[in-house]
Amino acid sequence: MTYKIAVIKGDGIGPEIINEGIKVLKKVGEKFSVKFEFNEVLAGGAAIDAVGECLPYETLEVCKNSDAVYLGAVGGPKWDDLKGEERPEKALLKLRKELDLFANIRPVIMYDELKDACPLKDEIVQGGLDIVIVRELTGGIYFGERSYSDEYAWDKMEYSKVEVERIAKKAFEIAGKRNKKVTSIDKSNVLDSSRLWRKTVESMKEEYKDIELNHMYVDNGAMQLVVNPKQFDVILTGNMFGDILSDEGSIITGSLGMLPSASLGEGNLGMYEPVHGSAPDIAGQNKANPIATILSAAMMLKYSFGLMEEGEAVENAVKKALKDGIRSNDIAKKDEKSYGTYEIGDKISKYI
Ligand code: NAD
Repeated sequence: MTYKIAVIKGDGIGPEIINEGIKVLKKVGEKFSVKFEFNEVLAGGAAIDAVGECLPYETLEVCKNSDAVYLGAVGGPKWDDLKGEERPEKALLKLRKELDLFANIRPVIMYDELKDACPLKDEIVQGGLDIVIVRELTGGIYFGERSYSDEYAWDKMEYSKVEVERIAKKAFEIAGKRNKKVTSIDKSNVLDSSRLWRKTVESMKEEYKDIELNHMYVDNGAMQLVVNPKQFDVILTGNMFGDILSDEGSIITGSLGMLPSASLGEGNLGMYEPVHGSAPDIAGQNKANPIATILSAAMMLKYSFGLMEEGEAVENAVKKALKDGIRSNDIAKKDEKSYGTYEIGDKISKYI
């Protein structure tokens, strides 16, 4: 069987980090005798420059006919003056919607080797951290109607019961394979859409009797994440709250450059990308940390292809590199040599 991967390198550091991810995947292919077919297509700023639109029809068709989509990052100052609909980032929202990728899975893992890079006190993160944030991705305020004038603007936030049920199901299932605890985060003391969210999640409790469920308001959740992060196993939340909480979670791990993500729908097709953006400030300088992108490939192997051993091999190779002090500038210890994007990719593929 050949696994078809649509590759969108994107803008800024996107091409540099995706190249390292592909390097590692090719090594996995060799070691485990698995065949991957990489089909490169354009989206984001690169697509605007080439064909005048952020998500060309061909890109969408190739993605729809693939087993997984592997994406770097899109956007950058060059396209910042474009209107909302025309911006590179719109390609991501369209891809998620068109492929019906409603669940965004973001592991927040603090590797023991990176304890020094974590801004929280030692006693708070003692023994490491391992949280999964399950964020609803195709509904809520980012997809609601909106209107803008210089005097008055509004955005509509809405959720249906069906939308909440399908994302909650993912969270319960993931928790079932982990420490069996789901914390659903909303703002039901103020928002009606959150009241429906909480009622729907609560109504599913009976189906997942072995999972402990609790609820938190988002303001408290944001605070708990830095005061007592070890209480969390799986965090279930909506689109906007998940966007904010996962960036907060990312910094606990030491750097945005460490965090992978998967966007999943009902079937096996998924989109895999680092949580961070295109980092225009360090683009083209061989400074970007490729680990978030490489760990996203590990998630692809596990979630879309069911290749668990291969996925673990990638994760173990990353751990070994960190242990050996192979670190980019964002996670290097003070006064220690830091490694470039290519060197880190080389080392990790060597360790597969
Ligand atoms: P960013 O994540 O690109 O960068 C924030 C900071 O983190 C920068 O200082 C950057 O150098 C650093 N950083 C990010 N990734 C890193 C890595 N792998 N290694 C080392 N350092 C890293 O966020 P931003 O600056 O707010 O956004 C830049 C552009 O990216 C914008 O156009 C934004 O819209 C876009 N963006 C795209 C995505 C995506 O494609 N999924 C996500 C977020 C932002």
